[in-house]
Amino acid sequence: FISSVLVFILPYSKLTSVFLDKIIQLTIEVYYTQVTEQLTKEIQLLKSISEQISSNEKVIQILEKNKSFDQLDTEEISLLMEQAELYEQILEASSFVDTVNILSISGNYLFSKGNIYNDFVLSDRPWYQEDYLNQKNSSIITDIHTNFTTSRDTISIVSFIYTDDQKEILGAAILDIYIDDILNYLKSNFDAGLLEPTIIPNTYDPNHLEYGSSFNDYYLKCAKNILHNGNNILFAFNKDSIKENPIIKPISIYTKTTIAIVGVALSISLIIIIRIAFFKPTLVSIDKLKHLLDTFDDNNTPLNYMDEFDQLEVISMTLGKCFDNKIQSLIYHDALTGMPNRKKMMYICKTLIQDQQPFALVFIDLNKFKKINDIYGHTIGDQFLITFSNIIQNILGDRGELVRYSGDEFVIIYKDFTNDTEFIEFYNQKILPHFTKPISLQEDIHVSIEFSAGVAVYPRDGIEIEDLINKSDFMMYTSKSDSIPYKLLFFNQDIYKNMIYVETLKNQLKFAILNNELTLYYQPIFNQHESIAKAEALIRFNSKILGFIPPSTFIPYAEETRNIIPIGYWIIDEVCKFIKEHTIPIPIGINVSPIQLLEPDFFQRTKNILDIYHINPNQIYFEITESVLLDESETVSLNIHKLRELGISIALDDFGTGYASFNYLKKYKLDILKLDKFFTANPSKEDYEIIQYLKKISHLLNMEVVIEGVETIEQFNNLKKIECDFFQGYYFSKPLTPHNFLELLCM
Ligand code: C2E
Ligand code: MG
Ligand code: MG
Repeated sequence: FISSVLVFILPYSKLTSVFLDKIIQLTIEVYYTQVTEQLTKEIQLLKSISEQISSNEKVIQILEKNKSFDQLDTEEISLLMEQAELYEQILEASSFVDTVNILSISGNYLFSKGNIYNDFVLSDRPWYQEDYLNQKNSSIITDIHTNFTTSRDTISIVSFIYTDDQKEILGAAILDIYIDDILNYLKSNFDAGLLEPTIIPNTYDPNHLEYGSSFNDYYLKCAKNILHNGNNILFAFNKDSIKENPIIKPISIYTKTTIAIVGVALSISLIIIIRIAFFKPTLVSIDKLKHLLDTFDDNNTPLNYMDEFDQLEVISMTLGKCFDNKIQSLIYHDALTGMPNRKKMMYICKTLIQDQQPFALVFIDLNKFKKINDIYGHTIGDQFLITFSNIIQNILGDRGELVRYSGDEFVIIYKDFTNDTEFIEFYNQKILPHFTKPISLQEDIHVSIEFSAGVAVYPRDGIEIEDLINKSDFMMYTSKSDSIPYKLLFFNQDIYKNMIYVETLKNQLKFAILNNELTLYYQPIFNQHESIAKAEALIRFNSKILGFIPPSTFIPYAEETRNIIPIGYWIIDEVCKFIKEHTIPIPIGINVSPIQLLEPDFFQRTKNILDIYHINPNQIYFEITESVLLDESETVSLNIHKLRELGISIALDDFGTGYASFNYLKKYKLDILKLDKFFTANPSKEDYEIIQYLKKISHLLNMEVVIEGVETIEQFNNLKKIECDFFQGYYFSKPLTPHNFLELLCM
């Protein structure tokens, strides 16, 4: 506030002195104008009086006589005196001149104040200049000279007296003016203060005049052309004396006080206006910023004792720091648990790797965490994650860091890693005991959790962070699939390689059709007379990257990735094309995966393919596995029903390996029963009897029987005795390339 008042008062004090100066200057100007006018008039008056004297007829008549003083008669003397007195009376009103002098040039005398001075020679006068004589009819003012009677500095107004015809110069009328009289006149007429006038030649620069005190203490005015003799009058007004003048001084004080009061009042109103108009938004903003500061500043920086500007500065600095910390924390920490996030994990691991310090990366995934959210709600779920994080971080202490990797996945960076045994001990003895009992979240909420963990160790299992994360994650996943809670699995190269192989295989399967890596083999199926009665299409996958992969290996992954659906239609298409192209006379069996049968449009799409190739439905049949039936899916039974209605036979493959009972056969009314090769592997007498019973039941249900895995003539002979309908196996033929199969067919 004080500084603001000062800011406004300073110009006002300047204003005061300017204002005072103006008053003084005005006073001086008024005086100067008046006094110079007066003086000019006075000089003018004196000049005209001297001119009147010089043209006075009576004076001229006497002087014309060119008499010497001695020759003058009394009458002439008294006349001259009379005339001089007459003008002296007129001049009584004048301030400077009280003597009128009349000079006779030829008579060399001078009348002055009743005295007559003889031998008064004009050219002897100190002021005399010859060219004065040329200035007829007008008076002149002489240079400053010393008066011959009083010895005082004088200027004279001289008007020459001529004969009437103006041809001859007779004398002169002289009015003497004392310089001190003029100066005193000027001084005494100035009431406002001290005036120190001087006469200076007009060649003189008044700015170079020096006064007793400083030159700046005076106001100077220079009056020119008043005296008409090449001299100027310099007026030097003393400033201080004027300021001290009893009239001006109160004005000055009054002005100062008024301006000061107005200044302060203005300053205060300005400050108020500025605060209201300009600072109001600022004050509102400061309030908002304070609120923001309350939220972010944990140190509660005190602000109350500061003014708004200081507050603003402190707020901006504190907020700057807080935001820096907050941003750092947001970038590197998980918002919920406050634990380091993935980014921070990368940073920590990178540092450890740079220092070549061994560490274990432990990937932890909570089991069934979703259930906690579902049962108790997300707030409790969040609370659980926070508690869980704190428990683990407390256990770890300086040994490592807990990272929240994602939702319910955490990673421990165990920095003290020496060997597996030591870590297993730490895991079993320090970590696990905290999870044997439920974790209390609220008074009445106690939650149990299980988790799975996988470990990868730097540098043993990998030297790159991503690789270590993948490996520990994979081991956690493997541990989870073992369904043993809290199981800790260290990285295992074989398991990992297999995983990589499987992942590659799944990926390759996606492009198998496009890459022409799939082919179909055909295995003939024989009747009792050893003629080919049917054949089974069997798929082969020759991967350019992984090499030959048997169907028993890749079909499960094709099913898992649902790639079996496009592959399945491709097989049906291939078989139909083959039948069409080579007019195959026997029905071809096509293996169909449960996944395919679960497709609601499986029937329609199959029918479409048959239609495209104009294939009679009885030229193909489908081999399904019993698991499809066990699921009792409506889509599956509808598909089977429609396919059979269309005329496509259905075989139940691998019968005897699972749990399917004859109930299902009865219910679904299938067409062919394929007994698994397991019956023929090492058949005993009992096995043959079982086969015989199964054949009888099948026939009872109107099903043909195919026996798989017939490898020897002995097996064939025994099975022929039992009167199985059809035989499939290496004894007759292995699965053949289409070419070889066609050859066999034509034989
Ligand atoms: P599956 O349908 O039971 O096919 C018969 C399997 O037994 C074939 O194996 C065949 O080569 C083999 N085999 C035939 N005779 C003998 C024999 O005398 N001794 C022995 N040890 N084995 C014999 P493959 O071709 O390796 O196929 C294995 C399984 O893969 C098939 O069993 C079937 O479940 C599946 N599969 C094959 N091709 C396809 C297909 O095109 N689609 C579907 N979904 N699955 C197929
Ligand atoms: Mg089969
Ligand atoms: Mg089979």
